[in-house]
Amino acid sequence: MLDPSDWSAFRAQSHRVLDDALDYLERVRDEPAWREVPDDVKTRLRAPMPQEPAGFEGAYREFSEAIFPYNGANVHPRFFGWVQGTGSASGAIAELLAATMNANVGGRNHGAVYVERQVIDWFKTLFGFPPTAGGITVTGTSAANFIAVLVARTWALGTRVRESGLAGDALRLTAYASADAHSCVRAAFENAGLGSAMLRVLPVDERHRLPTAAVAAAIARDRAAGYRPFMLIGSAGTVDTGAIDPLDDLAELARRESLWFHVDGAFGAMAYLAPSLQPLLLGIERADSIAFDFHKWLHVPYDAGCVLVRDGEMQRATFSSATAYLTRTQRGLSSGSPWFAEFGPDLSRGFRALKVWFAIKEHGARKLGEAIARNCAQAQYLKTLVERDPAFELVAPVGLNIVCFRYAAPGLHGEALDRFNEELTIRLQESGIAVASSTTVGGCRAIRVCIVNHRSCDEDFDVLLDALRRLATE
Ligand SMILES: *Cc1c(COP(=O)(O)O)cnc(C)c1O
Repeated sequence: MLDPSDWSAFRAQSHRVLDDALDYLERVRDEPAWREVPDDVKTRLRAPMPQEPAGFEGAYREFSEAIFPYNGANVHPRFFGWVQGTGSASGAIAELLAATMNANVGGRNHGAVYVERQVIDWFKTLFGFPPTAGGITVTGTSAANFIAVLVARTWALGTRVRESGLAGDALRLTAYASADAHSCVRAAFENAGLGSAMLRVLPVDERHRLPTAAVAAAIARDRAAGYRPFMLIGSAGTVDTGAIDPLDDLAELARRESLWFHVDGAFGAMAYLAPSLQPLLLGIERADSIAFDFHKWLHVPYDAGCVLVRDGEMQRATFSSATAYLTRTQRGLSSGSPWFAEFGPDLSRGFRALKVWFAIKEHGARKLGEAIARNCAQAQYLKTLVERDPAFELVAPVGLNIVCFRYAAPGLHGEALDRFNEELTIRLQESGIAVASSTTVGGCRAIRVCIVNHRSCDEDFDVLLDALRRLATE
């Protein structure tokens, strides 16, 4: 009923669409890195729900005019804002294939389920997790961190908490993370009902890392005051500076104190694929759970993240429920237990594992690791450029792929200098030459360049600094 009435016409249209999509990616370097959505386009996209068909051609025309040109920019070679992956051409095709299959990977016995299992197993092996570990792909690390907090809660309180909710002793559960941990970690504590106040956010050291001794002291203080420390969260690549907490020391502390050790490795965990960077992440293989994204540093199209849990049964006990219409059988389509739906909150789940599988099959893990290492080398290159130019100053150490610096405008200090750099970052975006974002590091507003971009080359960083120099003096 909703399939094309004329397949050969639809085929011709679709081939044109595919060509447009590939043209776009082939020429993206020549496009502005960002452009504002014009008011008339915004108006167009507020039109009410149409009752009459525009046809595929009509819908596509509107897409080409009002949507495609105003893409968020993270596919561009000079996109360095926040932490956003670039996607890839073959990733787009993998998405097309996944949508064609339209597999529901909540569970059962069909091909897509085995693909997701394989992807999860690859990453269990990478991080030294046992075959009995649990894991699922999720929308992103925000969801992955949330799931990890829920599993840790089950671990601390027993599955009874699923019926009873949080009461009595459970209200005294405390956890620990650095002040540079991602805001979604705090959100996970809010959403899990544990309360963000129970997440003890501790100041970082001069390298922006969580000091193990400070965690130990906070745990002791909380125990003495009658709290129940249960979880320690290390960051493998903080969003502001790319700092990696001392994971091995934190793992040791967690073991000694009987805490659940979780690692938020949204982008940083993928550095494990690069042998030269692996030592920075020492200790991640001791985690009870790890959250990370495929859509950031593995360049898999949005959205695709993952959570791994060393104790797979604990993950299952957190989410699994028995319902008649989801009865398992030994054979047939209803077999294939356990189902992914038992390891997280979603029943229906898309086939996001396919694009991950494709990326790894197509390129192989080594090449993906090399792309990550190259981004780190580019960060060092940019750092050198910044250090060489007295107009700029570095405001945080460059340990991984993030460079925080500012334009030291003569005669400006404090808030005025902060405002200047904020404005400069916006003007850079508006120029369409490159996109950086801004953040506050060590009390000052900085231009933040985060490199998770397989399309960037060294000259892009020369172009970036030239643009900033020019915009700053205009
Ligand atoms: C991006 C990021 C997150 C959130 O991940 P999403 O995929 O955006 O949900 C969490 N932690 C860190 C360190 C991040 O960089």
